[in-house]
Amino acid sequence: MSKKIYDVAIIGAGVVGTAIARELSKHNISIALIDAKSDVGDGTSKANTAILHTGFDMVPGSLESTLVARGYHLLRDYARETGIAVEELGALLVAWSQEEHDNLAKLQAKAVENGYKDCVIISAADVYAREPHLGPGALGALYVPGEWIIDPWTPIVAFATQAKLAGADILLRTAVTGVTIGAHNTLHTTNGDIDAHHVINAAGLYSDEIDGVFGIKDFTVIPRRG
Ligand SMILES: Cc1cc2nc3c(=O)[nH]c(=O)nc-3n(C[C@H](O)[C@H](O)[C@H](O)COP(=O)(O)OP(=O)(O)OC[C@H]3O[C@@H](n4cnc5c(N)ncnc54)[C@H](O)[C@@H]3O)c2cc1C
Repeated sequence: MSKKIYDVAIIGAGVVGTAIARELSKHNISIALIDAKSDVGDGTSKANTAILHTGFDMVPGSLESTLVARGYHLLRDYARETGIAVEELGALLVAWSQEEHDNLAKLQAKAVENGYKDCVIISAADVYAREPHLGPGALGALYVPGEWIIDPWTPIVAFATQAKLAGADILLRTAVTGVTIGAHNTLHTTNGDIDAHHVINAAGLYSDEIDGVFGIKDFTVIPRRG
């Protein structure tokens, strides 16, 4: 019997790789979701601050701004659909100096540029009404009602489960160490070779290493918030 050639191999089973696997698994294609760790979501995705970002403070016009705003709506709706825990807390950016206070209007204008129009500048009295245990000295704040907390683990497990139920293979304890590119890609891993017509690099902080494995040397990082 000839060895299986997957249509797509996804390297990395963090929130990005599992979401891609779930989306692709809606189509009639074979998928291998590969991770070096012994479980999904065991990289950066397991240890973040759990904020469901609106994208209000991104660099306007940047790719990140567009993607964070789109991701906010997609993940919020997915959480509602599946019962993933969300706390609709809202965020306060508290100004502790006159300079920070003067900057609140700029941040509000930036949010509007990013398509988020619900930010409100609130007085010191309103800050303490909302947060009575905050230390003294707050001059006011930018209130961002849509910044919520979301359970960061369950989406990953849900994405992976849906992909698996739709037929994707999840290959854990499988670190990609090299590739041979021919009629298809043969990924060399610590768990044997995996053949795939297409490979998606979702290796998070190690994406540059995977690019390097493929001989791509011009990996660039898009500048973050300004
Ligand atoms: C301190 C902190 C706080 C954060 N707070 C927030 C927040 O509040 N809200 C928010 O939206 N974002 C937040 N983030 C960002 C968010 O956590 C990341 O953007 C996200 O988790 C990245 O997911 P990923 O799937 O790209 O990467 P990862 O979760 O790192 O997944 C990449 C996977 O690739 C695997 N891998 C790597 N190399 C190989 C290889 N050679 N072979 C096989 N597998 C490999 C790794 O094992 C890993 O599981 C925060 C980040 C940090 C560090």
